[in-house]
Amino acid sequence: MITTGVDIGSLASKAVVLDTGTMTVIGSAVIPSGPRPAATAERVLRLALSDADADADTVAATVATGYGRESLPFADATVTEITCAARGAHLIDGATRTVVDIGGQDSKAIRVDERGFPLDFALNDRCAAGTGRFLEVMAGALETDVTDLERLALEAEAPAAITRTCTVFAESEIIGLLADGALPSAVAAGLCRAVALRTAALVRQIGVRPPVMLVGGVGMNRAIASELERAVDSPLITPEQPQLVVATGAAVVAADRISERSDRGSVREGS
Ligand code: ADP
Repeated sequence: MITTGVDIGSLASKAVVLDTGTMTVIGSAVIPSGPRPAATAERVLRLALSDADADADTVAATVATGYGRESLPFADATVTEITCAARGAHLIDGATRTVVDIGGQDSKAIRVDERGFPLDFALNDRCAAGTGRFLEVMAGALETDVTDLERLALEAEAPAAITRTCTVFAESEIIGLLADGALPSAVAAGLCRAVALRTAALVRQIGVRPPVMLVGGVGMNRAIASELERAVDSPLITPEQPQLVVATGAAVVAADRISERSDRGSVREGS
């Protein structure tokens, strides 16, 4: 049996196909979020099903999450990203006790219990500082792409000090640093450190319980991951595809719902 999870984020939409027999991901897709969440969701789901070589008719349940989750007519249920991040992280590594999700426009720290359910969380959704959007603006100032910041940062001998957290002021600051002769690699490393330090402060709001798992698109940047590991002083789990963890969690919630339904069925049959 298969379930699907769809995560309509502020910048990227993700879908995952889960084989509930083996509890493994058998297909996935990531596309940019368009202006119409329902159309984007249908498209990303179709791509994930095709990646899994699966037919839409064989999907037992679909759970939607993310920014655009309420507008998906075909979902069997909608669930918060907090729950999905916790369920997805638990499937990947059941030892995880704290999940850090750095997405396009917000970041979250979530404490999870030993069964993979959220206990507490802290959220930064008021300003772009420390998010993927912040990195995209800064990459533009460095005349590069966000996907290249990691390589640049890892080349640096020492990070430049970035003191401003607000996106607008930080952009002017790095333009000034570059004009003064700072190397782009040092600036990139400084940006990665600034995002990690801001994220670590968010994690401290709920208390650091190791091990910590880093998820979300920004988790693809290993320079940020290693700075975050140092800043929270805890072993950091970095999944192979951090951007898919929340969608994976949505598919896990869909599987949870099916097994609850069949448990209720067997209780009725037994009674
Ligand atoms: P959302 O769910 O809010 O749309 P995601 O978790 O999908 O956000 O993350 C999107 C962010 O991931 C983008 O803003 C971008 O900065 C970042 N990102 C995407 N690809 C990469 C990459 N290869 N390396 C580093 N960051 C990346």
